[in-house]
Amino acid sequence: MSGIKTHPWVVGVDLGGSNLRVAAYRELGAAAASCRASGKPLAQAPAAVVKRPVGEDRRVEAIVERIVSCVHEVLGQVGVSRVAVVPVGVGVAAMLSDRKGTVANSPHLGWRDVAFGPAIARRLGPARPVGVYNDVNAITYGEFGVGAGAGARDLLCVYVGTGIGGGLVMNGELVEGATNCAGEIGHVKVAWTEDAAPCNCGQRGCVEAYVGGSYVQARVRRELEGGVRSLAIDLAGGDAAAVNPGHVDAAAAEGDPWALALWTELAPLFAVALGNAITLVNPDRVVLGGGMLGRTPTLRDQALLALSLVTPPALLDPVEIVMATLEDDAGLVGSALLADAGVSLI
Ligand SMILES: [Zn+2]
Repeated sequence: MSGIKTHPWVVGVDLGGSNLRVAAYRELGAAAASCRASGKPLAQAPAAVVKRPVGEDRRVEAIVERIVSCVHEVLGQVGVSRVAVVPVGVGVAAMLSDRKGTVANSPHLGWRDVAFGPAIARRLGPARPVGVYNDVNAITYGEFGVGAGAGARDLLCVYVGTGIGGGLVMNGELVEGATNCAGEIGHVKVAWTEDAAPCNCGQRGCVEAYVGGSYVQARVRRELEGGVRSLAIDLAGGDAAAVNPGHVDAAAAEGDPWALALWTELAPLFAVALGNAITLVNPDRVVLGGGMLGRTPTLRDQALLALSLVTPPALLDPVEIVMATLEDDAGLVGSALLADAGVSLI
């Protein structure tokens, strides 16, 4: 971040499907610069943070009002004047279609083709320049700035939660792409027949439709309710409906045949998507994160083993593959850092 003017105060916003979090950070850009120099992550605690439910009213005006009042609230708590310039970065669980904060599609918020960026910029005013970012791009930049990506130059971040998202930093800068969709690794295809798994994006055969947490959960439920016997059911207290991917992972680690077969099918699919991405962009670091990967270490280990079969050594050998370190704060910190660096301000 050397050469980039950073601000004393920045605000990060994490707009998820159920919760809204807004945080004010002091000297965050300077902290990221020192992480980059040392190559060591250093979690940043916000000076003030508020958390609210997104609420029932999902109209864009209603959500903008909620965000704006939270931004005023955190900056009021830390005593920043209304005229001081404070960049605001908003990470949203959505596919964007430009760099002005137009949301093409957000199943979580029920939005399609919504001019979110202009609406929030109008309400925040000129002292609060605002940028809108895809949530996984924000996470990627947060991990790159002060998390597991500290000191990397070319970073690929892959988050496997309910779905799969990804982000790319090349030569120190976030790669946004022509329509702000770069890094959407969840929709890379790993199957292409007519019976390939259907994905929420409308297409078939996306890696997300196989390995994304909610898809795995649905498949596990379907197979167990179909009468499959597995140790995973015992691990969930005998209730097949309560089995989650973490139980499947623990059962696979114990050698349960059904759980092992499922993981043996899914691990190479994830490895192919990740290996192809590594081959395409040649990163020096890969950060893996998200709730699904976090609780399935057996699946992760199998995928990493398979990775060596699908990635040329010249590309795989130099890559450091690490787990994310910022957990729930990555998107907040990353949005704030992106806005601080002036990326796609409206
Ligand atoms: Zn898809």
